Amino acid sequence: MDFSFTEKQLQLKQDAAEFARKELNHDVINREKNNEFPFDDWKKCADYGILGLTIPKEYGGTDLDPISILMIMEGLGYGCTDNGLPFSLNSEMWSYIPAIIKFGSEEQKQKYLPAVAKGESIGAFGITEIETGSDSYAMQMTAKPVDGGYVLNGRKSYITLAPVCDAAVVFGSIDPELGRWGITSFLVDKEMKGFTSSPVRDKMGMRTTPMGDLIFEDCFVPESARLGPEGAGVSLFTTAMESERGYIFASQIGRLEKQLEDAISYAKKRQAFGQAIGKFQSVSNRVADMKLRLELARLLMYKVAWLEQNEMPLLMEAAMAKLYLSEIFVESSLDNIRLYGAKGYVSEFEIERDLRDGIGGLIYSGTSDIQRNIISRLLGL
Ligand SMILES: Cc1cc2nc3c(=O)[nH]c(=O)nc-3n(C[C@H](O)[C@H](O)[C@H](O)COP(=O)(O)OP(=O)(O)OC[C@H]3O[C@@H](n4cnc5c(N)ncnc54)[C@H](O)[C@@H]3O)c2cc1C
Repeated sequence: MDFSFTEKQLQLKQDAAEFARKELNHDVINREKNNEFPFDDWKKCADYGILGLTIPKEYGGTDLDPISILMIMEGLGYGCTDNGLPFSLNSEMWSYIPAIIKFGSEEQKQKYLPAVAKGESIGAFGITEIETGSDSYAMQMTAKPVDGGYVLNGRKSYITLAPVCDAAVVFGSIDPELGRWGITSFLVDKEMKGFTSSPVRDKMGMRTTPMGDLIFEDCFVPESARLGPEGAGVSLFTTAMESERGYIFASQIGRLEKQLEDAISYAKKRQAFGQAIGKFQSVSNRVADMKLRLELARLLMYKVAWLEQNEMPLLMEAAMAKLYLSEIFVESSLDNIRLYGAKGYVSEFEIERDLRDGIGGLIYSGTSDIQRNIISRLLGL
């Protein structure tokens, strides 16, 4: 058992943190208030190489190992005061991109991946509909086969990056009678007639990540826009969700590390009743819990990466990582607010944001209840 990182991996993390701190933290309070997506910062991240991390070299990406990629994403979260931009990046990296890599034709890979790596094309991944979230295979969207292709009709809701995307991976049924076996995925382009997106939906946290709907009204797509075979939608979705659940929280681990460091330094400095608040056991116990949660979360996530590197099944571990990381991000962010008192609650100090940002994690990529269902099913219950 080896729990150490290489010098190179540690350096990658440190460099990414420095890049984020210098380049990505400007005017976050206002951008957040205005639900503003930072296009310029997205491009800076692409130029830094972030968007190519999960793309093979031949399509404009890098050939880094999963652990090094996670170290970079951790570093980014450590340096970034806004969780919204890292969430947008992670969302594209762990769902949209793997879907194309694993199920795309050579033509689709050549057309979409290099542009994504350069930050010139933004991709969304949409399965959720207003009436079908956890029960996503009960979707209403149809993809009626016609001569030379399909006609898509339906609406995908609460989709990350929908208002700003240039293309999207979406799911529809070619024949509702077939149930889940009819679900088929498509890689669709904003240039296709009948495909539009809604304006940004206002939300509680991660406000710099634009969320909205993908709308399809008699949208004809050629056969070449199908992603994988007819009826392979469920298989594609399951595959994409494995990587998303395992890794989407990498940057939030970095954020938790920074949160903890700042909490320790504040607990040493802030005086009450003639001593530093860190000397009160109730405060120091909370800090100890924050440390414990961070370390356990990190172990779970790197175990997923290790399993992937060794080509072993990771469904159970990815569900456990998603469940644990999302829950502890909320717990630690709340403990952090308690530690800072009123300062933690007032927006100008940029402490309360983590809690608001963290709540979404209990819902996206499958709610905590759904992760528990997956784990217990795999345990034979
Ligand atoms: C920030 C954010 C970003 C998102 N980004 C995307 C995206 O990019 N693409 C996308 O497709 N979707 C996205 N979503 C949508 C998300 O995937 C769904 O919201 C999620 O799957 C839950 O579906 P729902 O909201 O319809 O809740 P419901 O499915 O209606 O669930 C309501 C409640 O019932 C519980 N429940 C439902 N079924 C079960 C069950 N079988 N067992 C136990 N409990 C159950 C749930 O846990 C929940 O507590 C995003 C959501 C958020 C908050």
